[in-house]
Amino acid sequence: PSYITHDQRLLRLRGGDRESTFAMLKPDVASDTHTVDEIKQRIAEAGLSIERERVCRLSRRRCGKFYAEHRTRPFYPALLGFMSSGPVVMLELSGESAIGAWRSLIGPTSTETARKEAPRSLRAMYGSDNTRNAAHGSDSPASAAREIRLMFQKPAWRRLEVYAGLAAAFLLTKRE
Ligand code: AMP
Repeated sequence: PSYITHDQRLLRLRGGDRESTFAMLKPDVASDTHTVDEIKQRIAEAGLSIERERVCRLSRRRCGKFYAEHRTRPFYPALLGFMSSGPVVMLELSGESAIGAWRSLIGPTSTETARKEAPRSLRAMYGSDNTRNAAHGSDSPASAAREIRLMFQKPAWRRLEVYAGLAAAFLLTKRE
C-alpha cells in the first residue's frame, strides 16, 4: 500500500496496533469443557491468540482484589461469592485491538440486553443473569496490564520457593 502515513508506517514497524487483554471464563462456564472449546474457537475466529492460560479456583480475597473498583456496589458480595464458587479459566489474549475485539465478542454485561442486542455474543449464548454472565474482559490498556499482572504473577510463596531452590543449589555446589 503506497498511501500510508508516517505514523501508520511506524505503527506497522512496531507490529501494528497489537494489544494484550485479560479474559476470564467465569465459574458458570469454566468447568464445561465443551463450552470452553467453543469459546476458544470463537477467540480464534476473531483473530485473537491465546498467549497464556491458567485454570484455577480463586479465593474470595483474590476476587476482592480483582474487583476492588466495585467494592461499594450492592452486587459486590454476590459477585465475590460467585467468582470464588468454582474454577475459572484465565487467558491472556493478544491481537489487533484485542481489548475491544474481546469485549465485543463477550457482549453487554446483562445477559438480557446481550440476548436482545448481540445474540451471537458469548454472554447472550452462555450467560444467565447480570452476575452469572460467562466471561470478563478488561476495559482499557491500563486495566489489562493490571489484571494480567494480578492474575498471572506467581504468588509470593512460589517465588520464595524458587529463591530457596537457588540457595540450596548454591550451598550444595560450594561443598564440592
Ligand atoms: P466489569 O468490571 O464491568 O466486568 O463488571 C464486573 C462484573 O460485575 C460484571 O461482569 C458482572 O458480573 C458484575 N455486575 C456488573 N453489574 C452488575 C449488576 N447490576 N448486578 C449484578 N452484577 C453486576
